[in-house]
Amino acid sequence: MKVFKFGGASVNSVERIKQIAEILLLYKDEKKLVVISAMGKTTNALEKVAGAFFRGEKEEALELFNHIKNQHITTAKYLLITHYNATFEQLSHLFTEAEWTLHDTPVKDYDYYYDQIVCLGELLSTTIISAYLNEKGVANTWIDVRDIIRTDDSFREAAVDWDITSENVQRLIVPLFEKNDMVITQGFLGATDENESTTLGREGSDYTAAVFANLLQADSATIWKDVEGVMNADPKVFDNAMLIDELNYDEVIEMAYYGAQVIHPKTVRPLQNKNIPLYVKCFLDPSLPGTVIHNKVLKHLPPIIVVKNNQVLLHLHSNDFSFIGVGKLLRLYQIFVEYKVRPGLIQAGAVSLMACIDERDDRTERLATEAAAIFDVQVEKGLTLLTIRHYTPEVVEELTAGKSIVLRQQTKDTLQMLIK
Ligand code: ASP
Ligand code: MG
Repeated sequence: MKVFKFGGASVNSVERIKQIAEILLLYKDEKKLVVISAMGKTTNALEKVAGAFFRGEKEEALELFNHIKNQHITTAKYLLITHYNATFEQLSHLFTEAEWTLHDTPVKDYDYYYDQIVCLGELLSTTIISAYLNEKGVANTWIDVRDIIRTDDSFREAAVDWDITSENVQRLIVPLFEKNDMVITQGFLGATDENESTTLGREGSDYTAAVFANLLQADSATIWKDVEGVMNADPKVFDNAMLIDELNYDEVIEMAYYGAQVIHPKTVRPLQNKNIPLYVKCFLDPSLPGTVIHNKVLKHLPPIIVVKNNQVLLHLHSNDFSFIGVGKLLRLYQIFVEYKVRPGLIQAGAVSLMACIDERDDRTERLATEAAAIFDVQVEKGLTLLTIRHYTPEVVEELTAGKSIVLRQQTKDTLQMLIK
């Protein structure tokens, strides 16, 4: 059994969807569970719908939604002939499901509505792609992942209930492989025990693939991307970024922790626990080797560079002349928990503490206001957090030349700098 995940970029056009059929044919003698994301920027577009709906701008929400509808209908028309009518019916049911919500008046939390609306992206993409593959003779069964992945009700960041999900996989997924050797389902989604839709956090489809690989005891999981594999830096920012052909689980966890947009941070553990290798491969050219991530001690990794923009540095000073003891730290961390903030860098001194966090909407201000009860707070915005794993003097020199460094912290393996 293999688990494949195709991300938004690999299904963002008719040509690319056709390419998926080619890739799947390369593995035609194997059992495959295929996890697919929403097409292109659909999730972002649905976020806008959810936002407009929640602000009470019903017309705007419906108009934005109509645009998404038309895009999907157009894609289905281009791809399907014999399966078009039946697929159009299925899409219409999904549209209606969302439209019911949009005609409501919001009475619950934003995060709840977000999940009920945003989940549509994956349901639409998989419906169209599954039909296209069946029409082309690449036989597969489509399943609604919300019947399989059970989560709690932490909307937008739902936690998987492994016991119930595992039972569902055995009971509902495993028998499907008797019919044909491919099951197609949605990434990123789950449902509560009350059948409310949930999402697992942005870019969560990678994690879905890992959950299935774990529960199906897959031989491997493969994430198909529009890049050659895992690079040592973002190729859009660094011309000399290079492919890393082999990594281990721990290194990938470190990279994700520091903000590398390679793989969703929660993806690694379920694979590591069962020692399942993860391949990152390029769907534009499946003959390229890509990157393999497994359980191996690796020496001589190249410097790995992670850049995070839009960072805010909180300067916190004790406001009562006392040292910053554990009591104050505890209260500060409680505030971080409350605002779902994980500081990327913290430096503590006797009477002051600096914490670097991602800037996100008005959260920074609200958090700073709350922290002002314990500290004098100053907020410095517009910073960049640069992390270099396996740093060398040359790379540090190259990346810091002419820059003003606000804060610097280093261990044997990792150097972090906050840059203005
Ligand atoms: N479609 C979701 C997102 O864009 C999940 C994913 O792509 O992994 O965040
Ligand atoms: Mg994506």
